Parts: sequence; structure tokens; C-alpha cells
Amino acid sequence: MRIVDIRDMAVPINSTIRNAVFDFSEMTTSIVAVVTDIGRNGTPTVGFAFNSTGRYACGAQMRARFIPRLLRAKPDTLLDDKGGIDPAKALTCMMQGEKPGAHSDRSIAIGTIETALWDAIAKIEDKPLYRVLAERFNGGKSADKVFCYVGGGWYRPGQTIADVQDEMRRHLDAGYTMIKIKVGGLPIAEDLRRVEAALAIVGFGERLAVDANAKFNREEALTYAKALAPLKLRWFEEPVDPIDFEAYAELASVYDPPLGTGENLYSMQDVKNLVAFGGFRAGWDVIQVDPPQAYGYGTYAQTLAMLEARGWSRSSLWPHGGNQMSLALTAGLSLGGCESYPGVFGVFAGYADDARVVDGYLKPSDRPGIGFEGQQALYATMRKLID
Ligand code: MG
Repeated sequence: MRIVDIRDMAVPINSTIRNAVFDFSEMTTSIVAVVTDIGRNGTPTVGFAFNSTGRYACGAQMRARFIPRLLRAKPDTLLDDKGGIDPAKALTCMMQGEKPGAHSDRSIAIGTIETALWDAIAKIEDKPLYRVLAERFNGGKSADKVFCYVGGGWYRPGQTIADVQDEMRRHLDAGYTMIKIKVGGLPIAEDLRRVEAALAIVGFGERLAVDANAKFNREEALTYAKALAPLKLRWFEEPVDPIDFEAYAELASVYDPPLGTGENLYSMQDVKNLVAFGGFRAGWDVIQVDPPQAYGYGTYAQTLAMLEARGWSRSSLWPHGGNQMSLALTAGLSLGGCESYPGVFGVFAGYADDARVVDGYLKPSDRPGIGFEGQQALYATMRKLID
């Protein structure tokens, strides 16, 4: 197997929503196609990925460094013992000439290419990616359904409390049983009214999480923590800067319900620091690394092994992303659950067109690879790279 070509394109997300910190009006993502020399009927197998949501397109780094390194590597140096591409060797190749540290300078570009490679590998094996990941990293075990919650409750212009409650009802009617809403975008009294209004619809704290998107300083986070604690929410996500581990440790010492973070941690070392110094409680708090933004699936599996060695269980890991890349990982590695963003982020949100959430659970697609071919609008966008 050889990599024949790697192509990328920046695509706008086209979203008007806002969290506590910024809006998505300028947000883009990179779509990537890895073209291989293996195919059927003269059509090469192509692996696709995109760099998830929340980080801008990273094609410049890909084209300047990572794509040329892979394409000029001697093909044999990238192969496993069965003649397929070994993603770990591809990662090593892309890391040549990279200074340690400053992970997000490269982890998103590399992770997106790595993810597209896995899509191609699974298609060549004619298996859904979650089964391939299960075979490589989970002793062959995979989940046949995955808990999936809504990352919702965004701030929208002119929104009322009744609008927030209507949104909660829509998600419950669609089959979800847990919803996350934003906090930190309004004065605390108004934010708490929003949270309590959402809670009144979802029923109880275990079904509701909140996400501050790293808005707060230490004092603000402690104030929100004190106000939220009696509600016993499922988790309080990103109260402070993603690498302010001192503040996380202080919050964990005073806030009893679970905390969550990880979508802005880009390496195994970052996550190790979180659990070593951030006070994160094994079996209780929630870690949310986004696979294509943090060097891809192989690094995720290493991060998982590091966490398990420190007493963490797979059920505490909830990959960020709300897409089939995270779904394949969650099913393949038997992780806690994944996210969904109904009606947000255009073609880049969500799952296969025929996917249905039933009682809060979603079945991963049985299409070979990640399953983008089952998302008509997204796949049409990706096909522009090769048509
Ligand atoms: Mg978040």
C-alpha cells in the first residue's frame, strides 16, 4: 500500500452561534483526502477526515511540512508487516524535524491526516473503523451502541428562556436523554435562570451538563461552582483555561459533582498533567480530548493506556467533536459516550443521515471506514477534493 496523494481544502463552518468566549462566524475547518494505490475497478481507496470543530483550518502546516514528509518518505518505511500503512510510522514520519512541545502547532494538522489514513485503512479492510480500532486497541471488543448527548444550549441573538426550554424539548423528543448547555455568556443570575429552566425540562441534574468554554478566571469559576454545586449536574465543563491546572485542582477540591475538560488538550503529556496536577478525580471527572485535533487515533490509544495505568476507566472518556470520527473511537474503544450538535456547524455536525438516537444511544455505522459516505452533504463536500 502506498500513499499516492494527500489533498486538503479549507471550508467555512457557516455558523452564527456563540459560546461564552467567541462566535463561529469566521470558523473554518480543513477537509483532507488521502489517496492510496489500493482500489477496486480502477478507483483508488481514499480516506477522508476533517479537523473537527472549534479550531481553524490548518492546511498551511499540512502543505508546508506534513504532506511533503509523507509523500517523499520511502514507501516501505511507512508499512506494517502485512504491507498496509502503519499509522504510527506515518506519525513518526510527520514528526521529523518537529521541536518538542507547542503541540497545537502541529497536532491538529497531523491528527487530521492520521484520521484520514485510518479511514482508508478500514475501507481497504472492508470494515467499519470502529471494528478496526477495537481490534487494534481494545482486544477486539466494541460497543454496538454508544451513549450520545447533545452539546447544545448555545447563545443566540434575541433568545428567551422559553426558547432555551423549547430547544431542550426538541432534543428530548429526538431521542436524547442528556443535554449540555453553555454558561458564562451572561451575568451569573441570568445564566443560572437558564440552567434552572433547562433543568426543569430535562428533569434532573444527571441529565444536564454545563460548559463555560474556559471563560472564567479563578474567582469567577469558584463563584459559579458554588452556585451550581447544589444542582448536582452531570459535569461542569472547562470552567477555566484548559492548562490552568492549579485552578482545576482548587475547583476539584471544593466542587463535588464531576468536572470536565480536554477538548483543548492536544497531547498525551497535556492530559498527563491534567490528571497529575489538575486534581482530576479518576472514576468521577470527565476527559474530552478530540481525536483529530490531538495527533489522531494512535495517540488517543496511548493516552488511554496512560490514563488506565493511573486508575482511570474508559467510561470517563467522552471524545469531543460530535461527528463520526469521535463516534468510531467511542464505539471501538468502549468509551463513555460522545457528543452531538443537532442543527449546528452545518454539514460538519452529526452522524450518518440514517442514524437515529434511541433512548440516548446511537449505533455506529456499518459502512466501511469512518462512514462519511453515509452523510450525503458532508461527503459531497469531501468529494470536491478528488473529483
Ligand atoms: Mg466544550
